[in-house]
Order: sequence, then structure tokens, then C-alpha cells
Amino acid sequence: MSNLPLSGARLWDSLMEMARIGGTPKGGCNRQTLTPEDAEGRALLARWGEAAGLTLTTDRLGNMALLRPGRDPARRPVAIGSHLDTQPTGGKFDGVLGVLAGMEVMRALHEAGVETEAPILLINWTNEEGARFSPPMMGSGAAMGAFTEAQVLDTTDPEGVRFGDALAAIGWRGAADPAALRDLEAYFELHIEQGPILEREGIPLGIVTHALAQQWFDVTVRGEDAHAGGEMAHRRDSLVAAAILVEALERIALESGGDGRATVGRIAVEPSSRNVVPSVTRFSVDLRHGDEAALDAMAAALRTRAAEVAAARGVAVEVTPFWAFPQTPFDPALAEHLREAARARGIAHRDIPTGIGHDAVYVARQVPAVMLFCPCHGGISHNEAESVAPEWAEAALLVLGDAVVATAGIVRT
Ligand SMILES: [Zn+2]
Repeated sequence: MSNLPLSGARLWDSLMEMARIGGTPKGGCNRQTLTPEDAEGRALLARWGEAAGLTLTTDRLGNMALLRPGRDPARRPVAIGSHLDTQPTGGKFDGVLGVLAGMEVMRALHEAGVETEAPILLINWTNEEGARFSPPMMGSGAAMGAFTEAQVLDTTDPEGVRFGDALAAIGWRGAADPAALRDLEAYFELHIEQGPILEREGIPLGIVTHALAQQWFDVTVRGEDAHAGGEMAHRRDSLVAAAILVEALERIALESGGDGRATVGRIAVEPSSRNVVPSVTRFSVDLRHGDEAALDAMAAALRTRAAEVAAARGVAVEVTPFWAFPQTPFDPALAEHLREAARARGIAHRDIPTGIGHDAVYVARQVPAVMLFCPCHGGISHNEAESVAPEWAEAALLVLGDAVVATAGIVRT
């Protein structure tokens, strides 16, 4: 356990101060990426960083990196990161908790005058949310080589504004190469769970061991349109066939064991007329699992059921892959540092996967990375009602701080 003066109260005050920027009447936040509110939030973080003796570098995508030097010039930084941007009707904690807990670790080190062997770096990634500019996790994705810088800069928002122009307009286009952020010894990200498991089990801390693999599909069911007044017997109703498949997908996920998930989030029928049997139904499928083989089996089960339903209903069913994301393991040694820190503080914890994408998932492609989860009430997130108990935030802060310092190494004098 470190003797750092890590303060849950100071972290909470900072969370509340940051939440005033883009604060909404219902108590949430609208601090979307590359807006004036984002600029204001960044400026506040920069001021806090200056007060804690940190040196700020901003890269060409607006990723902010605040450095505290270490004693050993040969060691690369141990980083703590997350994001300050929010959904249009977001909460006070999604992303922000991770960045400001990192800032609290920096303040505690500064206040105690502690020197670490490795440098410590705090990162605020640009556009994690993907609400204004899609896809999400652009800053971390480009830094880690998942997208090119040009792809990110040329992305446009729904109003046609270019990412690069919006970044320049708010004054946060820096000169550094985003790829420099690959040069890290380790990466830690604290995030709210955005799910109900930890609160339900009364466990204040999750050690995130891996991110689920994902496979997304487009499914098209083609039958035949007919008058709604016609007989039932010989219909080739594409929507009824799709409904059977939607129900089957729920069963496929439940029977896949462990952390299997299947979601149909979008559906459209043609010709979409009140008194016409729909000839075409299109829907999206999002499959996730912590085990690649189990995920492949879920996808195979979808194809098998699709063929069965097609034969039984006299329709054609086409299942087309849309996007896939591999299972991402986090670093076992860093996860063990988190468990050791939790044990030393007497904080109950459990291992947990993440079914949701985070900056850490891209970072893990290049750097040993790990995440820790803080519970959130009711699992509610991407919502103005998102809330966290101050004692949960404090427990996560203590474990984060101790594990980061243990990784970086304290200089004993
Ligand atoms: Zn987030």
C-alpha cells in the first residue's frame, strides 16, 4: 500500500467542477467532442495539470498527454488515461472519472514530493464517445494504428464539419505525433462499469481481464408482399420469419454460456404499409462473447437457424458480416498489480470482462494495458442520471494510485 495522500474528497470536488462545463438541467453533461465545452473542459484539465507540476503535450488529433518525469531516463511512462468528452445527454462520470482519478494520483505524488522511477503520464483521448464524429475511440484508435490520421481528420459530423477543422477551431490541434503515445511501459484505465453486475453483487471494484470479441451482421429476409386481407395460409411474411430469428438469437446468447450477448438493435420492413404483408425485412445483429470459439459457434448457430427458418417459411435469408472486433486480453501482470493493491487496502473485488469498447482496448494492441471498473447505480450510463457513490470512486482511486506507483516504482531515499 502506498502512503500517498490520495484524496477521494478532492477527486469528487474535481468531478463536480468538471460537470459544470456543459452541465444539463437534469444533472448530466453535454460536453461533446470538439465543441466549445470540450475546449473549456480541456483548459480546466490543463490548469490542474500545471498546478500539479505536469508538462502538457498535445498531438495533431488533440490527444492531451500530461507528463510527470521519472528518475530513470531509460524507462518509458506508465500511463493513466480515459476521456473527458460525453454523449449529448451524458453523465458526470463516464470517462471523466478515469481522467480525474489520474489527475488525483498526480496531485498526491506532487503534494508528497514523491519521485518515481518511471515517468507517469496522464492522457485525455479525443472523441472516445463517437456521438458527433463516428466511429468512437478515434484518438486512441489512430494513436495505436487502427485508423490513419487522415481518416480521422477528414471525418465529418452530421452538419458536414470536418474533424480537423473543428479541432483547429477550438484551438486544440497540437504538433505532436499521435503514434508517440504507443511508447508506454504500461497503461491503466479506470472507468465506470456501465452495467449492473458490481452493484448487484455489492462489490465496489472490478478488475477487467479482457474485452469481448464482437461480430456484427446485416440480415435480410425476402418473402413476398401480399394484401393484409388475403388468406393466412400461403403467406411468405418476411417479418414473421425475422421475428422467429430475433427470438432465436436471444436463446443462442443465453445458451452460449458465460458472457455471450446477442442484440438486434435495428429493424426495417418494406414496403412498410399498414395493410401490406412485408416482403422484405432487414435487421442488424450484434454478437459478443469473451471466447472467440464460442463467438464463432454463436455466428454458426445464427446461420443454421436462418437456413431452417428460410426453408420452413418459404423466404430467403441472407446473413452478411458487417464488422468484427477480436477478443482483447488485458495484461495479466498489470491485473495482478490491481488485485494486490485491492487486497492490501481490504477492498473487495472480482474479475470481470468488458462488453463495451474503451480506449484501453485499442491501447492494448500496442502496450500492456489493463482496466478497472467502478460500479454505477443501476448500471445506468450514457444518461444524465448516471451516478456513482463517492466511496466507490474513492476505492477505485486508491487501487489505481497504488497499482500505478507499484508499476512505476518509488525512489527510496
Ligand atoms: Zn467512456
